Amino acid sequence: MKLDVKSMTKKELESSFLSMGEKGFRARQVFRWLYKGITDFREMANLPETLRAKLDEKAFIEKVEIQKVQISSKDGTRKYLFRLRDGRAVEGVFMKYKYGNAACISSQAGCRMGCVFCASGMAGLARNLTAGEMADEILAMERDTGERVGHLVVMGTGEPLDNYGELAVFLRNIHDEEGLNLSWRAITVSTCGLVPQIETFGDEFPQVNLAISLHASCDEERNALMPVNRKYAINELLQACRRHAEKTGRRVTFEYTLIRGVNDGADRADRLADCLSGILCHVNLIPLNPVSEKSFRGIDRRAAEQFRKLLETRGIPATVRRSLGSDIDAACGQLRLEELKETKNTKNS
Ligand code: SAH
Repeated sequence: MKLDVKSMTKKELESSFLSMGEKGFRARQVFRWLYKGITDFREMANLPETLRAKLDEKAFIEKVEIQKVQISSKDGTRKYLFRLRDGRAVEGVFMKYKYGNAACISSQAGCRMGCVFCASGMAGLARNLTAGEMADEILAMERDTGERVGHLVVMGTGEPLDNYGELAVFLRNIHDEEGLNLSWRAITVSTCGLVPQIETFGDEFPQVNLAISLHASCDEERNALMPVNRKYAINELLQACRRHAEKTGRRVTFEYTLIRGVNDGADRADRLADCLSGILCHVNLIPLNPVSEKSFRGIDRRAAEQFRKLLETRGIPATVRRSLGSDIDAACGQLRLEELKETKNTKNS
């Protein structure tokens, strides 16, 4: 099997170069090219011709193809459908902020967490992405826009902490100063609440922002929305978050998707404030993006703002997520879902 150089850490790359009888500094040269977005060994100008040929034979450079891109005429947001080597598809988003460009990337093709309001899990998990595929989602955006990505959220398709090993390699590589040189604090990883992995993550990546998809304030409601809660109940999760904040000194973000008639009442804001009291945190309120296959409905911005105020009067800092790219605003996971349906229809016809 060919060596997947983009899914290795710099150290792993160095040791495999040494075992191929090559010098360690050659591995670092390759590493630097990879994160400049080069996807062909032959373009690595400072490598001897013989090494380029050898790498071509023994190794490959992971690359995702842009299958579709929707560009917002309002704010330049780009929503991508990436085609992977094995034909599977994942989504990514490129966003322009005042402070710079941010990317949202996927960590798995599909998802096995089964949150009932989410499009990504509807067809289950196909497979984990490799570290190289995750990195190339960012690199593909940089190649396409000609701009640098300075901030990253791992909030696309998939549950990143369910793919911990590859996520960890990916994070180390994009943080590496010879990689993408992203500062830890410019990275956010979002999880539905896998408690053991939250602990490990806090130990290994204490400066990376942690976002928790909470969406409910009691077990009964959270069980109905997010099956993961039957494994790690809300108190256990909140306890892990409290420890995380204490251990890292960093504010935990709680994402709370507002679903009309389900979790948006004033009593829910109150109960949420009870849950979060004493935790160093911030709440990100997200009016639900309706998914056409599901009956859940979102709420308008004014109602979301009211919910935010209720939290704030209870001393819980909260913001309503600003919606970028509203003119291309297919719900999270929708592009991929449409693509899956199209592929199925073509196969069936
Ligand atoms: N699995 C991770 C990251 C991917 S989902 C997690 O659960 O955090 C990113 C965020 O989008 C999560 O908070 C998720 O619950 C939310 N989300 C999923 N579908 C949504 C929808 N239709 N509308 C609004 N938010 C949604």
